[in-house]
Amino acid sequence: MTHPNNVAIIGAGPAGLTAGYLLSKENVPVTILEADPTYVGGIARTAKYKGYHFDIGGHRFFSKSKEVEDLWTELLPDDMLDRPRSSRIFYRDAFFSYPLKAGEALRKLGIFESTRCMISYFWAKVWPHKNPKNFEEWVSNQFGSRLFNIFFKTYTEKVWGMSCKEISADWAAQRIKGLSLWSAVWNALFKPAAPQAGADKSKVIKTLIDTFRYPRRGPGMMWDAAADKIKAMGGEIEMGMKVVACHYDADEKL
Ligand SMILES: Cc1cc2nc3c(=O)[nH]c(=O)nc-3n(C[C@H](O)[C@H](O)[C@H](O)COP(=O)(O)OP(=O)(O)OC[C@H]3O[C@@H](n4cnc5c(N)ncnc54)[C@H](O)[C@@H]3O)c2cc1C
Repeated sequence: MTHPNNVAIIGAGPAGLTAGYLLSKENVPVTILEADPTYVGGIARTAKYKGYHFDIGGHRFFSKSKEVEDLWTELLPDDMLDRPRSSRIFYRDAFFSYPLKAGEALRKLGIFESTRCMISYFWAKVWPHKNPKNFEEWVSNQFGSRLFNIFFKTYTEKVWGMSCKEISADWAAQRIKGLSLWSAVWNALFKPAAPQAGADKSKVIKTLIDTFRYPRRGPGMMWDAAADKIKAMGGEIEMGMKVVACHYDADEKL
């Protein structure tokens, strides 16, 4: 059955393309308006230069939702690679594993700094921010303000380009839910097996995952594939179209 309404979507980032793809599958005609003249994928795009592919940001494709994992497989059936994760934080001329490994962190921070971190952690447990409002307060409650300042503040502000005071506590809770200093220590001592493909990922702490999926040619490959499939189903993607205003016609209800 063909749907009577044409749906306009602003932006061909992951959100717009996912919406466009799912609507197209339901025979709803879509037109996606994208400001960028060349690339779809938004901040998950992969730029091409002289035959090389550059990811704007390294993207882990990992979701606790089977539906989301299945959608990615549907979009890129042959090009999702399983990759081991290796993240490091460079601090005071040393690389620290992330997620933190308790023994390594204590050794590299030194006895003096480690003691300050532990005191700051216990301080946060005794006098936490009641109703934490922002990322800084939420993470400080979980790890202590000392560890927040060492490992979370600079990294987060660099990646997201805004102060940790401006990022909501909800976002922190959603992103590093279930992780605390104790769970980091526990994980370092009794490391759980990495989730296998098809395993129940719903209980895995997002920040602690050891492997993730990655499109063979970068995250942009996923969104190029989504755009191609939308077009193959009759949807339109207009590049270089920046939406500057939206008007509602009350008479026509359009
Ligand atoms: C460094 C980095 C690492 C990341 N790592 C991960 C990760 O590992 N895993 C993960 O799941 N997520 C990760 N993310 C987050 C992920 O990139 C975003 O959540 C996702 O791109 C958001 O998609 P979106 O479609 O909502 O927005 P965007 O990606 O911002 O796309 C919005 C699109 O809309 C277009 N647009 C904006 N305004 C207009 C307008 N007025 N008219 C027309 N078009 C417009 C833009 O040009 C853009 O193409 C990371 C992000 C960064 C920066």
